[in-house]
Amino acid sequence: MPDPQVRTRSGGTTRLPQRALDSLSAAFRGQLLSQNSPGYDAARGIWNAMIDRRPALIARCGTAGDVALAVHLAGAHDVLVSVRGGGHNIAGNAVCDGGLMIDLSAMNSVAVDVSARLARVGPGATLGDVDRATQAHGLAVPVGINSTTGIAGLTLGGGFGWLSRSLGLTIDNLVSADVVTADGAMVRASESEHPDLFWGIRGGGGNFGIVTSFEFRLHPVGPEVLSGLVIHPLDEAPKVLRFYREFLKRTPDHFVCWFVLRKAPPLPFLAPEWHGREILALAVCYAGAIADGERVAKPLRDFGHPIADVVQPHPYTAWQAVLDPLLTPGMRNYWKSHDFHEVSDGLIDVLVEHARRIPDPQTEIAVAQLGGAVSRVPAGATAYAHRDAQFVMNVHGRWEDPAKDATCIGWARQLFEAATPFATGGVYVNFLTQDEQGRVPAAYGGNYARLVALKRKYDPGNLFRVNQNIGPPV
Ligand SMILES: Cc1cc2nc3c(=O)[nH]c(=O)nc-3n(C[C@H](O)[C@H](O)[C@H](O)COP(=O)(O)OP(=O)(O)OC[C@H]3O[C@@H](n4cnc5c(N)ncnc54)[C@H](O)[C@@H]3O)c2cc1C
Repeated sequence: MPDPQVRTRSGGTTRLPQRALDSLSAAFRGQLLSQNSPGYDAARGIWNAMIDRRPALIARCGTAGDVALAVHLAGAHDVLVSVRGGGHNIAGNAVCDGGLMIDLSAMNSVAVDVSARLARVGPGATLGDVDRATQAHGLAVPVGINSTTGIAGLTLGGGFGWLSRSLGLTIDNLVSADVVTADGAMVRASESEHPDLFWGIRGGGGNFGIVTSFEFRLHPVGPEVLSGLVIHPLDEAPKVLRFYREFLKRTPDHFVCWFVLRKAPPLPFLAPEWHGREILALAVCYAGAIADGERVAKPLRDFGHPIADVVQPHPYTAWQAVLDPLLTPGMRNYWKSHDFHEVSDGLIDVLVEHARRIPDPQTEIAVAQLGGAVSRVPAGATAYAHRDAQFVMNVHGRWEDPAKDATCIGWARQLFEAATPFATGGVYVNFLTQDEQGRVPAAYGGNYARLVALKRKYDPGNLFRVNQNIGPPV
């Protein structure tokens, strides 16, 4: 490996001494890639095609020991570091320009202990890896709704999906994590070991160290869940969403319904005349007995005149992957997000008005329903603060042609501004883009000061800074 010129954390460049690289290569079990190595371009690519960065060195780790070696190298030579789990984060913080990318994607094992109902999961696993391994035993941990997302970044920010109203956030099911801290030490974080670190990694992102293994509590789920879409024309959305918000007040935690405003994709169950026209899609999931779900969902399915209703039993793993074709990597993406306590009349008007001029067939406005078990955990119990948010909006700008950047980004920002009066002021850290570092304190609300103190303790030199960074560097 040639001695590469690398970017330093202090903003300059340095040449890594050959002997440092030689001793890293001798001990490293994974793969070290420089800019000329085969596979380098694939390794630096991430989900959001707007991010095009070139690390000087990629340490594709095979073991926790490899992670510690890479952290030692970076610490000793002031090297700028980024950490890649699944590479899905919209902000692109998995990859840095000119520095060292610590790539965990090969550490993707999932080991299930059926009798203890626990899973030990590597930080390179995707949600699909976790779901497949756990569902083989009829078990699951609540995770997100796109199976190619990385478990690591999702968990470190909180993690929610179809099961969260009944089983909590992903972090609410985290039992312990193995962490390499900024000084290269390997520690375990749990309620009894380094409990302050355990508190911080449950929502505080990668600010305090690199997680090399997660241990999750599992629950019986499925194998089938009642799930699917109910689709209405956008013109009906104001009426349907007013009914929806009242209906949800009477539903149990096992029932969840997210909604999406977008142009209809050419889905086989939609009449061709609807393809490309604006619609409201209600995405329903009931994580309990199918017959109970049928009964709970009936009034919502019966309301108005849907143009499609494909709610039926699906294998849980299939439902977890059902949106994947709309969320493939390689597109340009720009997001704006708000938390809400309710879907108010004013918010409905803003959403519908902006959906009428949605700038690209791939772009959508998605609103997730939270509450339930998520809200029953006190706000200070984990770093994830906004337990009171009942709905999370993700204005998901998505398009292919770079010439549309200004139009699509402009539309997303306008919608975000128009929705601000109805929002709580909080935001989910995992939905922040690269230009929203200023919103990090808002992502943590009343927990922010405690996170800043924890950052000073575990990473005083801000080694882990290519992220939604907490606190001023000391
Ligand atoms: C299409 C799509 C759908 C999504 N749906 C949901 C959803 O339903 N629910 C939800 O909660 N979120 C969802 N998200 C958001 C998702 O949780 C975040 O994008 C998350 O950060 C992705 O994790 P990752 O490991 O793939 O990302 P990466 O980009 O690899 O990492 C994200 C951040 O975490 C840090 N990091 C990664 N691994 C580690 C580690 N092991 N130790 C320390 N730091 C680490 C990185 O440095 C980076 O700052 C979705 C995202 C996408 C793109």
